[in-house]
Amino acid sequence: MQHVSPLVGTLVVGIGLAFLFGTLANRLRISPLVGYLVAGVVVGPFTPGIMADASMAGQLAEIGLILLMFGVGLHFSLKDLLALWTVVVPGAIAQVAVTISLGMLVGLAVGWPLAAGFAFGLALSISSTVVLTRALQGAHLLDSQRGHLAFGWLIVQDVVTIIALVVMPPIYAAMTSGETAGIGALAGALGGAMLRLAIFAVLMFAVGKRVIPALLHYIAHTGSRELFRLAVLTIALVVAFAAATYFGVSLALGAFFAGMILSESELSQRAAEETLPLRDAFAVLFFVSIGMLFDPYVIAREPVAVVLSLLAVIIGTGGTAFVVVRSFGYSFTTALTVGVGLAQIGEFSFILADLGVDLGMLTNDIRNIILATSILSIFLNPALFAAASRLRARGVELVPAASDPAPAAKLAPTTLTGHAVLVGYGRVGQMLAENLIQDGWPLLVIEDAADVVEKLRARGIEAIEGNAAQGMVLGIANLARARVLIVAIPNGFEAGQIVEQGRRANPELDIVARAHFDAEVDHLIAHGANTVIMGEREIARAMLEHVKSRLPRTGGTS
Ligand code: AMP
Repeated sequence: MQHVSPLVGTLVVGIGLAFLFGTLANRLRISPLVGYLVAGVVVGPFTPGIMADASMAGQLAEIGLILLMFGVGLHFSLKDLLALWTVVVPGAIAQVAVTISLGMLVGLAVGWPLAAGFAFGLALSISSTVVLTRALQGAHLLDSQRGHLAFGWLIVQDVVTIIALVVMPPIYAAMTSGETAGIGALAGALGGAMLRLAIFAVLMFAVGKRVIPALLHYIAHTGSRELFRLAVLTIALVVAFAAATYFGVSLALGAFFAGMILSESELSQRAAEETLPLRDAFAVLFFVSIGMLFDPYVIAREPVAVVLSLLAVIIGTGGTAFVVVRSFGYSFTTALTVGVGLAQIGEFSFILADLGVDLGMLTNDIRNIILATSILSIFLNPALFAAASRLRARGVELVPAASDPAPAAKLAPTTLTGHAVLVGYGRVGQMLAENLIQDGWPLLVIEDAADVVEKLRARGIEAIEGNAAQGMVLGIANLARARVLIVAIPNGFEAGQIVEQGRRANPELDIVARAHFDAEVDHLIAHGANTVIMGEREIARAMLEHVKSRLPRTGGTS
């Protein structure tokens, strides 16, 4: 048999099993994240059967983390970040303090030394970027105010982690040696870390902001799409790597900065997004690699500590974030999303736990409890998120706060009849909607992007937020009594799903759909569309018309 390298083996086993268990989880109507974690446990060293290389899976997962944070940065401008400063800085610091205190209480309850309780609490206080990003992506909230708040919070937690990694070794050394003269070393380490962080930020904003877009423009001139994608990927990876290696900034924060620089120009932002499909495959490996680290027997050995620390994460981090956000005047919905989104732990906690073990502050068993807490909190998170959305769907909105423009997601069925249902409010949908409104049509828009829906509602246009391919979303559009369904989205597979459901709901409905390939036209007609407009054909027609009208034929060749 041919020899397969461990890297290829880990990739194949990790991605293959994640796909298998992810699909299974989807069939059981639970989050695919749970499936990925289970795939990890199955190939991990603590369960019998196939075994993949845990350290290699962890390294591949780091690439996923870089690409994810880069993608988040692409949706975040410096202005967004500064606008949230006053909430997220005091909020996250208070939350970290509360969770550390709860962690220390857990330590006291089960009889650990104070320093162990502190390091344990610190590890519990930092949420996982990957889990939060996936949850917000799934709920289409990455670009919303709630999403930005949760992310701003994470960034502050990230800075806290960087500081902790720098100052914990000298503090602990001073404590154990009984010296008080450690203050100078401590101040030096802390000052050095802050200085490196500041230099990195200044370099990115003063130099990177000019050099990076200029580089992309230059590469665009070469006309090679492959080189362009490679350039974007290089920017994300190199900035993250340099941040971590030379500036003591985490890989995640470095990649986030790189994305944020590109978000300043819409052109670069859109171009960069094209390179992100890689991200999802690597992010999946993140969950598989966490599953692999998990020793399920720790739950049987230390049930009390595991349950208490899970409560510390949910109450300490989630509860504090909820209370802080609410007390700054944001709505119940916003506070709940931020609280639930942050109520889990992952990659940063492992890094801190490893440091604790290296310094001798934590035992291996305590590290295992942190891992168990992480797995359980990631398992629970999709369920908490779903419960929170159900609360939102029922319209649980205590006094809506004036400063929060985001209204509660509206999932009540529409009362419109004889209306036009428009799916997708992008370049195509926008033009349609404006004209339909002018012609006096009752209009219902279904749109995936939360911020677009918020803007439509602010203009008094009825809009449902969600993926129209999901039955529940179309179910509340009253298709049975609508006159026309316009499917103005670019993805042929999703459009086919929507057309099929629309036809089932109303055999008389006039359905017009958008396509970009001949095969899509056939697919959509087969699923019940009356008319399919092929975008490229219409462009060609309009261009031809232009040429014919402006430049009358002058005759044959000479
Ligand atoms: P464009 O290609 O510029 O016309 O944009 C398409 C629009 O449709 C974007 O605003 C997307 O957010 C939206 N969209 C794409 N797929 C779906 C879907 N399955 N359900 C609802 N909205 C969608």
